Amino acid sequence: MKWGIALFSPESRFADRIRILDTTLRDGEQTPGVSLTPERKVLIAKKLDELGVDIIEAGFAAASEGEAEAIRLIARENLRAEICSFARGVKSDIDAALKCDVDSIFLVIPASDTHIKYKLRKTREEVLKIIEECVEYAKAHGLTVEFGPEDATRSDINFLKETIKIVIASGADRVTPPDTVGVLTPEKSYALFSDLKKTFPNVVFGVHCHDDFGLAVANTLAALRAGVEEAHVTVNGLGERAGNAALEEVIVALKLHYGVDTSIRTDLLYDTSMLVSRLTGVMVQPNKAIVGENAFVHESGIHTHAILAEPSTYEAIPPELVGRKRRLVAGKHAGSHGIRAALMEMGFHPTEDQLKEIFRRVKEVGDKGKRVTDADLKAIAEAVIGIPSIQPIKLEELTVVTGDHVTPTASVKLSVNGRTIIEAATGVGPVDAAINAIRKAVSAIEPIRLEEYHVKAITGGTDAVVEVIVRLRRGDQIATAMGVHEDIVMASVNAMISGMNVLMAGGRSENMRG
Ligand code: MN
Repeated sequence: MKWGIALFSPESRFADRIRILDTTLRDGEQTPGVSLTPERKVLIAKKLDELGVDIIEAGFAAASEGEAEAIRLIARENLRAEICSFARGVKSDIDAALKCDVDSIFLVIPASDTHIKYKLRKTREEVLKIIEECVEYAKAHGLTVEFGPEDATRSDINFLKETIKIVIASGADRVTPPDTVGVLTPEKSYALFSDLKKTFPNVVFGVHCHDDFGLAVANTLAALRAGVEEAHVTVNGLGERAGNAALEEVIVALKLHYGVDTSIRTDLLYDTSMLVSRLTGVMVQPNKAIVGENAFVHESGIHTHAILAEPSTYEAIPPELVGRKRRLVAGKHAGSHGIRAALMEMGFHPTEDQLKEIFRRVKEVGDKGKRVTDADLKAIAEAVIGIPSIQPIKLEELTVVTGDHVTPTASVKLSVNGRTIIEAATGVGPVDAAINAIRKAVSAIEPIRLEEYHVKAITGGTDAVVEVIVRLRRGDQIATAMGVHEDIVMASVNAMISGMNVLMAGGRSENMRG
């Protein structure tokens, strides 16, 4: 087996068809600091539908008017996916969901004694009555009902089974006992769901895991191995506290470890991840599986050589499967093979001696603790090969106005291939305004997109030197570049212009092997 790992086959009873409920727009939106406008929620919902998720939990209808509006707009899109709203065990929540025209509700009512006593301040008997009434009410109004006995994994198993008996008798369609505080282990998850499947062979179960111990994906897979028919996931593992099971990880593990396919189009996983990251403002950690910036980047010299010969030597997942491309980067660990490949992509053809010298200088930059960007590599190569540096874009003037009761506005004068271009733009702040103005000026000639922007203060204090790293894209070419300045606006502008110059001078393709 070339991709994936098939070292052993633990006992698995996967359902014939596993359905994916994505809760990025509900549990994912409960990520601290995240709040999506209805328009942004619609954009994400459309992407999830294109990705192929079976059920979209679009939000919590009773939470606010804005939230209800978002769910209503999504329901109106006539997507292929089932549209679901979260609801608590009160009629007004079910009514709010009904007003949004959703197909289903995820009806969550406490099942653990801790939640029953401290959150609801009720008895078990009262809770059973509420559960029965709510399910009957929702069913009578034509909703598909997925019941979630909240905090199920810390509840008394006999009481949990009683709640399931009652909801099934009342007409509920599916049961998803959530691991609300993320206390399952893969062994416990497998045992719990095996028990539930044995006790209720005709009930459709789902699994909903939180990542407090970093086990959400493992626990989800264990439940699916026990025959559970539905998995709750979020894009990039967003969610309350440490988040939920990551959609991309669950899907790829199912496919490559267990040979189980879902309706998800894996080639759209990276695109979806980037969209959600951009719209929520939550950056994906660089070393995150599948969708992290570094997940398919190789820097080490020995690895690069082997990767160029045969990708599976150091990759367990083919990047194309998840809509990505392998990327080799220059850096202090890079071998000359990797650097030569990077230079060739930039259009340089160094001799052996020149390559040695470029290699030495790249290591020098790396040893100083600096990140070697594409712009750095290009500048080094030009210096060594002795060709005049090509800088199609030069900044001639920059003015930024900002303050209180003022819309941050920037105007720039650029010389692009000798042509003078003057543009102005506004932004949420001075950096945004300046970058927008430059982008506007250059986009008349080249469609260049800013994909990433990282800022780092090297020392403390308001006069600190600031380092800005940007990642730009033109078609399938990318360039990283850095700007260093005491003024964050100038650091940003310098990074932007130096990255654009790499792209305008040829750039380099993200896939080094073409
Ligand atoms: Mn949750």
